[in-house]
This record gives sequence, C-alpha cells and structure tokens, in this order.
Amino acid sequence: MNILLHMCCGPCACYPVPKLRSEGHDITGYFFNPNIHPYKEFKHRLTTAQEYAQKVDLKLIVDTNYQLRDFLQRALTIEKNTDGLNLDNRRCRMCYAWRLHQTAIYAKENNFDAFSSTLFVSPYQNHEMMKDVAQKISQAVGIPFFYEDFRPGFAEGTQTSIDLELYRQPYCGCIFSEEERYSNSFKKKRKKKLKALFNEQNNK
Ligand code: SF4
Repeated sequence: MNILLHMCCGPCACYPVPKLRSEGHDITGYFFNPNIHPYKEFKHRLTTAQEYAQKVDLKLIVDTNYQLRDFLQRALTIEKNTDGLNLDNRRCRMCYAWRLHQTAIYAKENNFDAFSSTLFVSPYQNHEMMKDVAQKISQAVGIPFFYEDFRPGFAEGTQTSIDLELYRQPYCGCIFSEEERYSNSFKKKRKKKLKALFNEQNNK
C-alpha cells in the first residue's frame, strides 16, 4: 500500500517507518505541524524530521509555514463545552483534526492509497480521540485511514532516535503544552495525567 505518513517529528517516526516498511508498504513522510511553537522549536523539529528522512532514505514532503497565529485563533475560539470534553482536550482534538485533515487531503489529491500518522506511536497522546478523528476525516475526504497501534514500539523507537542522535523534544508542541511542561503549577497535574495514561496502558 502506498501510504502518506504524517510525521509530527523525527523521533516519533523511528518505529512506524521501519515497521510499515517491514509489512511491505511504500511510505512517504508528510510534515505538517502548525501546532509547534515557538519558531525556533518548529525549525528544530522540521530539521530533525529532514535529518531522519535523509538517514533512512525516506521521501519527505514538508510544509514550512509557521502558523502560530492561525493556531492560536483556532485554539482560543473553540466553542464552549458542549461535548463533555475539557478545554485542553478540545484544543487537542482541534489540533489532531487540523493535521490529519490536511494529510488526508494531500494524500487524496496525490493518489496515495491511504494516510496515517506517527502520532499513533505516542503513549502521551489521546490515542482513541485521534483514531476517532482520523476515521471521521477518512469518510469525509474519501480516502482510507491506515490504522496501526504503534505504541508497543515506543521504547524501541526512542532507542533508535537516541542511536541516530536525533533531537528529542521535551514537550508536545504548542505553547500551552510548553507551559504545562515547565510551569510548577502544572507539574502535579501532569504527573497525575501520565500516571493515569500508563495505568491505562498496563491494564490493556
Ligand atoms: S498539547 Fe499537543 S496535541 Fe494538544 S494542542 Fe498542544 S500540540 Fe496539539
């Protein structure tokens, strides 16, 4: 299958790319991440994705536009709670939807068989929400979503990224997640969230 693989960064691609190749798929990377801030961090992650692609001979399509203002506009105008999700979760859903929708459109217009994302390797993302969003986008755009839960390979991918000496980012991407990462007032909340995530993983 000819798959357009959305890449959120270089390190997260380290497991999905060889895994999909070992299954016989033809992979093209697609870097579209308007959620990464500030500008220096965006450039660093973009450069790292290109470095990884070059090291593993992966074709990579990149969108170099830095869209801080558009992201903030969307994040700060999310409608009030009508769906039972808290504000952080609604922001993340918007963020997943924007990136996956753009990937699906590009895949459709350029005759790929399906689209997917390296985001599905991360135990820190809201996996079920992303899956649901991707399935809906697949139907709306009219192109298959290739789903695979890459999370069992997260540790292996992390080791590969260390072996390849790739830059590893310390926070998810947006300026809100940067605050959550470094602000003391968020530390407790973050620890609790991570603990709940790992417990959920271990109970599967
Ligand atoms: S925390 Fe991550 S997934 Fe959520 S909005 Fe920010 S960059 Fe996007």
